[in-house]
Amino acid sequence: MSEQTKPKVLILIFGATGDLAKRKLYPSIYRLVNNGTISQDFAVVGLARRQWTNEVFRENVAESVQHAFEDADDLEQFASHFHYHSFDVTKDQAYIDMEKLVHELEDQYDTAGNRLFYLAMAPEFFGQIANKLKEHGLKETSGWTRLIIEKPFGHDLASAKELNSKIRAAFDEDEIFRIDHYLGKQMVQNIEVIRFANGIFEHLWNNRFISNIQITSSETLGVEDRSRYYDDSGAIRDMVQNHMLQMVALLAMEPPIKLTTDEIRSEKIKVLRALRQLNPNEVHEHFVRGQYGSGEIKGESVVGYRNESEDLVFSNTETFVAGKLFIDNYRWAGVPFYIRTGKRMKAKETKIVIEFKDIPMNLYFKSERERHPNLLVIHIQPDEGIALYLNAKKAGSEALAEPIELSYNQNAIHSINTPEAYEKLLYDCMIGDATNFTHWDEVALSWKFIDSILNVWKEELPNFPNYDAGSMGPEKSSQLLQQNGFHWWEV
Ligand code: NAP
Repeated sequence: MSEQTKPKVLILIFGATGDLAKRKLYPSIYRLVNNGTISQDFAVVGLARRQWTNEVFRENVAESVQHAFEDADDLEQFASHFHYHSFDVTKDQAYIDMEKLVHELEDQYDTAGNRLFYLAMAPEFFGQIANKLKEHGLKETSGWTRLIIEKPFGHDLASAKELNSKIRAAFDEDEIFRIDHYLGKQMVQNIEVIRFANGIFEHLWNNRFISNIQITSSETLGVEDRSRYYDDSGAIRDMVQNHMLQMVALLAMEPPIKLTTDEIRSEKIKVLRALRQLNPNEVHEHFVRGQYGSGEIKGESVVGYRNESEDLVFSNTETFVAGKLFIDNYRWAGVPFYIRTGKRMKAKETKIVIEFKDIPMNLYFKSERERHPNLLVIHIQPDEGIALYLNAKKAGSEALAEPIELSYNQNAIHSINTPEAYEKLLYDCMIGDATNFTHWDEVALSWKFIDSILNVWKEELPNFPNYDAGSMGPEKSSQLLQQNGFHWWEV
């Protein structure tokens, strides 16, 4: 990349002393600079209330990079671009002082007036910060201004609308980058490529040839130290409203006519519009919620959710969700999309299984039970790759046919770390590519769907805990598929 095409930028991180900034943002910025993806003409302003000096801030930045990449070098030089400004987002004076600092740094680092505001803070501040940035002239610059907003974007449709209107009062839609870090993952971005760059799949990608699609995102971890946030949110808000529905949209969308942000987003929006809204009875039939009790993970005993902390003793928050979704359009009529996600499950993995319909008469299997449909598996994380399960005769085997696996494992082949989702997304934002960020229409349609489930759940007391830590969730999650003659594939 020539020096001229590398983005020059001043990044302002709100919440610079927080967990996300330390674990994700500083290492990602380091990689972008170190790989020469962005210009050396960059600076970062860290903003938070703590009374840190530039030196303390830089030490923290260097430490977090070192923690992520043991062999990181030139850290002192890298960290010298970081400046700290003690700042309370609720105080006007703070923005007045910040504006002065921004001008000084823009002169010092020649960042072409480009300003990226990254809100790595609690969502209750998002609207206020956006408006104060505008009010205090921080959007007035010769370059671009863009706003990255962390999840969660609202708590339900009403609060998301309210938040959106506050932010839109200060920033245009094309300046707002709503992060869904799943969209920055290599293999999530690959869904589109696997589908639309391979004739053998795209021709079969419909209800004539696919019997069902399964998306699993399981974690072995419990609630850790995020209990306050998590208990208020639960698995459906934390995982389904955003990441899982985004994966559904990518799997189900029509081919875009061009690979542009607008075209891709508009196809995803159509899928979310076609997502069947559930009436209260259907919520019971199509969705299962769960909360983990005690159990064993990798040979170690772990406590149940309600014993994780004192304030969770009476909690009815779900730590697991499974659901059956239908997309009512020509391509997908009748094909269930099954999703499941949860904490303290048996394995940590995110994967998509596409199950193809079997041929009408398969003479190579003696019984129905032995038959193995063709599967395409997309491993999102921690493994990154694809596997295709076919039936063939294995040399020396008595059986007429057996399933064989053709697989490609991206992280085994490229031994260097694949870029972190945040690294890709930060870069996309700097070049103004919003394809892998969520448009407001996607957020609103997802919330509308989730609200219809939450409205039913809130009226009924769940019977929790209903799955053991270390399992794959409540029994009812398996029944959801059995009703249609399917089962979760553990491949
Ligand atoms: P966190 O560790 O609690 O950090 C919050 C930050 O906000 C701190 O730097 C805090 O610094 C600052 N802050 C709080 N009140 C402030 C005020 N009035 N003025 C200025 N600064 C203030 O939170 P986090 O885990 O980094 O999460 C940040 C955002 O990212 C949240 O929206 C979260 O949902 C989202 N997110 C986080 C993760 C993750 O892995 N952590 C993952 C996905 C999404 P001071 O105390 O020094 O002011």
